[in-house]
Amino acid sequence: MSLVDDDPDGTDRAARRDAAVRAAVAQGLVDEREPVVGLLDVAGIRASAAALREAFAEVLPGHPGSGGVLHAFAVKAASLVPVLRLLADEGLGCEVASPGELALARAAGVPAGRIVLDSPAKTAAELREALALGVAVNVDSRAELERLDALAGPAGPATASALGLRINPQVGGGAIDAMSTATETSKFGVALRDPGARAWLLDAHVRRPWLTRLHAHVGSQGCPLELMAEGVRIVYELAEEINEVAGRRQIDTLDIGGGLPVNFASDETVPGHREYARLLAATVPGLFDGRYGLVTEFGRSLTAKNGMVVARVEYAKSAGGRRIAVTHAGAQVAARTVFAPGTWPLRVAAYDAHGLPKAGGPVPQDVAGPCCFAGDLVAVDRELPPLAAGDHIALLDTGAYCFSTHFAYNTLPRPGIHGWLEAPDGRVRFVPVRAPQTLEELVAESGGAHADGLSALR
Ligand SMILES: *Cc1c(COP(=O)(O)O)cnc(C)c1O
Repeated sequence: MSLVDDDPDGTDRAARRDAAVRAAVAQGLVDEREPVVGLLDVAGIRASAAALREAFAEVLPGHPGSGGVLHAFAVKAASLVPVLRLLADEGLGCEVASPGELALARAAGVPAGRIVLDSPAKTAAELREALALGVAVNVDSRAELERLDALAGPAGPATASALGLRINPQVGGGAIDAMSTATETSKFGVALRDPGARAWLLDAHVRRPWLTRLHAHVGSQGCPLELMAEGVRIVYELAEEINEVAGRRQIDTLDIGGGLPVNFASDETVPGHREYARLLAATVPGLFDGRYGLVTEFGRSLTAKNGMVVARVEYAKSAGGRRIAVTHAGAQVAARTVFAPGTWPLRVAAYDAHGLPKAGGPVPQDVAGPCCFAGDLVAVDRELPPLAAGDHIALLDTGAYCFSTHFAYNTLPRPGIHGWLEAPDGRVRFVPVRAPQTLEELVAESGGAHADGLSALR
């Protein structure tokens, strides 16, 4: 059973959301002292995780459940320890790309064997720590492989870590350049189609029997499913060739990355994990016949639709005939939307002072944030019920790459985040996920301990 797949049009999700906003306002979670908060739909996160598990279990008949596949959540999408723990409860591991993300995964209690380290800039110290812990490592470049050779003896690294190479299948980009990691000149992985690369890769594997994985992540939001599946197919073909040349089943696991795009235009969950898993099974059937273990690294598709930012409307004003709602949600919580509004449009829902869906209108208005620059707008000329001071807005589908991607402009604090669950009797319970940053913390991280430092230097 999965709520998401049983709720493809998102009716249940939308109803849960309205109940949560009303309860958050009634319970004082968002008020004058804390005018912006993040809310996470615990039932929705569990349902999305279940939908992912089931999607792959369906196409891996020999591997029921998550036996043959490790779903490693891309921590950068929601770098919150309780979220990682919740996903671990649901059988997921973690994909990490920095010492900080690794620390979060460990703080969430995720075992080393269920953590995968990807990053194009791993230091020698980071590599050593990963090997000591037994965290899987996807090596990004030839130079990094040489570094690993230097850390290891001739017999290879003495470690429980599964080790693999990231391949750039160079299948091309999607709709968003910044999210496309398999272009001709992408900074990630070993570029497979460059002159001499294939021969070098075959030789590198024959020399290193301890390289047992291949990794590809074709891109994130904006990449068509067909493009992602084609990247996986190319890497699968490479694995088959390596195993043939090596004369053994050396590559035993393929890490196919994440990147399932999210629909930000409505409550519909399209495409779903199931659609992608079926396309993969049709495009690369050999990947699902039980000979290979699988790792996935989905981020956005697991949490985006399960979170929102709720903010108070502080003032309503007008300028040049344009209505403007000045709210507490701007670039600090939705940096990508504010700086690249054409690429990352967000839906805005209007609620009244009691947190009830607002009726009336709609009339075109700008929804502005609190930051002191003119472009701090989360929606421009958007048709919404007329917003007034004391109302609330919700930025929908912001459960990924928002709470984890704070922009510290104007020394605005990282807002508090709460998880919610609706009981059968309709009562909404909240639990803290992250406390809001305090003024003391803001001063401390702004050099408060060194107040005299510069003046003393004369
Ligand atoms: C960002 C990233 C992911 C997750 O991408 P989503 O679009 O959030 O699913 C997975 N793997 C790697 C290597 C990444 O860089």
